[in-house]
Amino acid sequence: MSNGESHSSLDANFTFCNSGRVEEIPPAQSGGNVMLLNGKTAVISGAASPRGIGLATARLFAEHGARVAILDLDQSAAQAAAESLGSGHIGLACNVADRNACLRAAEAAIAAFGQIDILINNAGITQPLKFMEIEPGHWDAVLDVNLRGVLYLSQAFVPHMRARRRGSIVCMSSVSAQRGGGIFGGPHYSAAKAGVLGLAKAMARELGPDGIRVNCVTPGLIQTDITGGKMTDEMRSEILKSIPLNRLGDARDVAGAYLFLASDLSAYITGAVIDVNGGMLIHG
Ligand code: NAD
Repeated sequence: MSNGESHSSLDANFTFCNSGRVEEIPPAQSGGNVMLLNGKTAVISGAASPRGIGLATARLFAEHGARVAILDLDQSAAQAAAESLGSGHIGLACNVADRNACLRAAEAAIAAFGQIDILINNAGITQPLKFMEIEPGHWDAVLDVNLRGVLYLSQAFVPHMRARRRGSIVCMSSVSAQRGGGIFGGPHYSAAKAGVLGLAKAMARELGPDGIRVNCVTPGLIQTDITGGKMTDEMRSEILKSIPLNRLGDARDVAGAYLFLASDLSAYITGAVIDVNGGMLIHG
């Protein structure tokens, strides 16, 4: 430090100006915390579920200064979730598997906020089926929400992001894609989430020159309502044996990874996949 003072990185940011002096940039702060998304706007799909990853992410983003648009199947649930964040946020009905619904939601979010900086493709469903139990309807339902939804919702926002030459898109995959299921979702869920990894990497390659980053998160078992109460204590303790951190994940654990990938902290990261699984996938 040229002035001989020491500062904690949470107290101030520094930069070198042309004269070589270190200049202090006032950090955006609230309640003593650095705000990573000050002035930014985010759209999060599948974010109305009270114990879900989407709403935990919306809360964390709002704490970091973002205005958030919550998209979910039910308009009043989306609105209630948005209101629970405080003022300045919005809730919109959007079935991500419906292309026109995605276009309408994008139009409404852009009109409400003027700009969209971040898209979190979080919506998803699962079904605990064995391979031979998968009927065409199961396949369609799971692939439509988890994979087609990423395509449609991203396509709805990319023209806006391209025009601004900036944007961060984060897509929800799963450890199920990496290890071939075996936890809760069926093979069709693994296939859909593996498809998300390929789609997101291809998007990262194509959209990088437009200033748009695209990354994925691959959570392990996170305690939300997606298992529909079908997770038994026996299954839980069996799973715990394979997790070095010796606990299941919380929605907030995934929200933190989303926050990093949404924020400028990850400005040079695209096409990446971040595991949020307590070490479940460490290779020997
Ligand atoms: P959740 O059931 O609490 O949340 C899913 C949300 O998506 C719900 O609010 C639901 O209404 C919404 N949704 C469902 N279909 C939709 C559609 N067609 N359009 C818009 N919204 C829709 O579950 P969660 O665990 O918070 O899941 C969030 C994401 O995380 C999902 O993509 C899931 O596959 C993924 N994931 C979860 C875990 C886990 O262990 N919980 C692990 C890995 C990945």
